[in-house]
Amino acid sequence: MAQNCRLCPVNCGADRQNARGLCGAGDKIQIAKYGLHPYEEPCISCQNGSGTVFFTGCALRCVFCQNFELSRGKTGKEVSERQLAAIFQELEERGAENINLVTAAHYVPQLLGAFRLYRPKIPVVWNTHSYEKLEALKTLDRYIDVYLPDLKYFSPKISERYTGRADYFDVASRAVAFMAQRTCDMRGGKLYAGCIVRHLVLPLCVNDSIALMKWFLTLQTDAYFSLMGQYTPCGDISAFPELSRRITPREYKKAEDFLLASGYEHIFLQALGAADEQFIPDFSEGTDTLF
Ligand code: SF4
Repeated sequence: MAQNCRLCPVNCGADRQNARGLCGAGDKIQIAKYGLHPYEEPCISCQNGSGTVFFTGCALRCVFCQNFELSRGKTGKEVSERQLAAIFQELEERGAENINLVTAAHYVPQLLGAFRLYRPKIPVVWNTHSYEKLEALKTLDRYIDVYLPDLKYFSPKISERYTGRADYFDVASRAVAFMAQRTCDMRGGKLYAGCIVRHLVLPLCVNDSIALMKWFLTLQTDAYFSLMGQYTPCGDISAFPELSRRITPREYKKAEDFLLASGYEHIFLQALGAADEQFIPDFSEGTDTLF
């Protein structure tokens, strides 16, 4: 593992053999939970659920993260590449529709090691905040079937306020443009290959959502766009009073109306009833395999 880690755009230079980087990761993979997850888009969860692996740590660290304990490295257990490969196999045997790697961009070298040991026979999903380097994405590309990138902020001011990263859109737009090139293979309601770009509408940020969608529509790909309204106050938002409420139906509708008026057909919309804590993975309960 790198002694001067520059794997992601944070470029923190951590010696990961002896310390943790700003993403919270050391040299070993750390996982908080894995299991069959029913709350992704229908073409990802399908009947049996997505074989989701939640990785500990995150380079982006949004203040309102719904997986705060996990992204801040407060929960999780170290696993070897061999153990991760065995988890892929176990999820497959349990009937998972796919292997869904959630926020794993800070573990790319270890993932390559795990895939060399065992390559899943079901689609592999890369579920990411998109704040990642193209070089790293390209190294892993041959193992990924479905890209599931979040595209979170357009304005540098907003991304700086909520993550400390003013360059979020510069970095993420390059990553998303790459991922959105994946040819779509949807059969019988299941996505076997392709890309779903997700965007979560935030309180008071609808104009930012619209700016993002305008950019997305210039890509001219067959990627899906998933407009999410499930924002729920979470994380460390005491200094951000505007984040203490859910979005209003009017805010979601304004974003939805823009998307519908564009005529783009590959879209997923979300009922605002999805904005509920029950959809947030619980890293302390015993329903799935916990560490
Ligand atoms: S992956 Fe982690 S350790 Fe490496 S540069 Fe990014 S934040 Fe630093």
